[in-house]
Amino acid sequence: MRLRRSVSSVLSVGLMAGLTLVAGATPGSARPAPAKHPVAQGFFGAVVSDTPESTQAGIDVLRRGGTAADAAVAVAATLGVTDPYVAGIGGGGFLVYYDARTHQVSTIDGRETTPAADTETMFVDPSTGKPYAFPTGVTSGLSVGVPGNLATWQRALQRWGRFSLADNLRPAEEVADRGFVVDDTFRELTRENAARFAQFSSSAAQYLPDGQLPVVGSTMRNKDLADTYREIGRKGIGALYGGSVGRDLVNAVQNLPLAAGSTLKPIPGPMQLSDLTAYKALDTAPTHVNYRGYDVYGMAPSSSGGITVGESLNILQNFDLKNMDPVQALHHYLEATRLAFADRGRYIGDSRYVNVPQQQLLSPQFAASRACLIDPTKAGVSPVAPGNPASPTPCATGTAASAGDDENHTNHFVVSDAYGNVASYTNTIEELGGSAIVVPGRGFLLNNELTDFNFAPTQGTAPDPNLPAPGKRPRSSMSPTIVLQHGKPFLAVGSPGGSTIITTVLQILLNRIDFGMNLEDAIAAPRATQRNTATSTAEPAFIALPTTAGLQALGQKFAINDTSPLDPTIKIAPTIGVASGLEFRPDGRVIAAGEPSRRGGSAAAVVFPTCYCD
Ligand code: GLU
Repeated sequence: MRLRRSVSSVLSVGLMAGLTLVAGATPGSARPAPAKHPVAQGFFGAVVSDTPESTQAGIDVLRRGGTAADAAVAVAATLGVTDPYVAGIGGGGFLVYYDARTHQVSTIDGRETTPAADTETMFVDPSTGKPYAFPTGVTSGLSVGVPGNLATWQRALQRWGRFSLADNLRPAEEVADRGFVVDDTFRELTRENAARFAQFSSSAAQYLPDGQLPVVGSTMRNKDLADTYREIGRKGIGALYGGSVGRDLVNAVQNLPLAAGSTLKPIPGPMQLSDLTAYKALDTAPTHVNYRGYDVYGMAPSSSGGITVGESLNILQNFDLKNMDPVQALHHYLEATRLAFADRGRYIGDSRYVNVPQQQLLSPQFAASRACLIDPTKAGVSPVAPGNPASPTPCATGTAASAGDDENHTNHFVVSDAYGNVASYTNTIEELGGSAIVVPGRGFLLNNELTDFNFAPTQGTAPDPNLPAPGKRPRSSMSPTIVLQHGKPFLAVGSPGGSTIITTVLQILLNRIDFGMNLEDAIAAPRATQRNTATSTAEPAFIALPTTAGLQALGQKFAINDTSPLDPTIKIAPTIGVASGLEFRPDGRVIAAGEPSRRGGSAAAVVFPTCYCD
């Protein structure tokens, strides 16, 4: 349905609706969820996030004069309530921010860190000398990294906020107190986690009421989390980084809150309060490439996102994708990321621990040396070898190594404000449901981010840049991105999806910049992801495209992934990513676009809407 209304009529209807909701809500009852639209257009600021409550929280902050940083904190904190399996203060993430005063793009690295007591062999089972199975690492205290989200929020507010942390946490407290209405998506995501949540008394109490999946239409409250946010609001982030909340967190990691009758024997973790005290969110310089005249800014290590998206764009810059036959254009897209992922595996890790040749990896010369390996007549055979960025030799190949892989869940949201600032923020607790451990009495799930390290070396005789070390940040794929055109914001995009994040962001950029789609279509379009593996994972809708036969004739192979990485008996939707984006039009309009249907669809809204265009 496409609704087009005048600014003034929408404004008055929207404000009246807001007032009605406030007046009509009884204490303790969930507010009716604001309407969920995947696309909105208008002026003076916008939010696209996973849930209507989190989007509304951001819009409310923007309407009160908050900046994109203020609103981002309100959105992220509310997602901790309404989207708790992929968000919250138990996790970490990466924020890319355009500051309209300085015209600069900056980034904050809020990635989790490894406790000081951990070592390179932390994921090797001492009883066998072999790496733990992935699911063993996931549901454990061992994989819990020191969370970075709260420190990121505080740092963003210090740099760009107008309101206090306490102010920006308030909308989330209200949603947690009143509760939100459980929908099909929330129930489904709980189903995928139910067996793990049942292992921990605190997790079962919060997310499996009466031991059952929450009923669609029921109200899910989280009083513990509301109180935790209030405590943090009063005491500051030190409550978590060394204080009372931190003590409870450390206790949960060391002494797992197992349910009576739990069948797993999860491994506890060695985290100490001193690990929390030592945590810092880092101001880092963004990655930058110029792609067909657009300045593309992304996240530098500890995320591999900015470099790998950037290298792929640089490789593709060698080809005229726009005027290529569609089969060839997609073939080049798949081949570019096949090559870039080989380089990612070989060279990218936490740059405070390993020497990441970022500048060389992002140089046009290196990209040219990789581009000439793309054969228009046939697909590469993975694993393909990494290149040598220190001395790029055209078309040179080296020794192939196995491709480490991951493919899980998180959330991405975007915010802009009336001042012209833009936030693109991907954050996560890693696996859907993280470690599955809710901190008792605190209402938030702990991450299992340390499983993003390689459990064992993956690079043959070459060093693996992504092995664990004390204090190190595991390599991420999160790729929050901001694109400027002539120095002004043009796009802000990002997605969840483990290492598929990189290809999803790339695909959206290509769809928008090269293939002439509008942002809404660029996000909705079917996806496929090639990460230096023999077979590309693809959505069923991608395989149904008329281009597939031609791609297969070139040797491209596709498979659908519809099972949980933790348990092959658990069926999941065979989708890739849950993207959101903003596009800034020359007339001052902002187009806010998310998913029409993946993972239940996105909630887009603008401060002064001219169109809800779904
Ligand atoms: N842990 C993943 C990463 O940092 C993100 C989680 C996900 O999207 O699955 O790349």
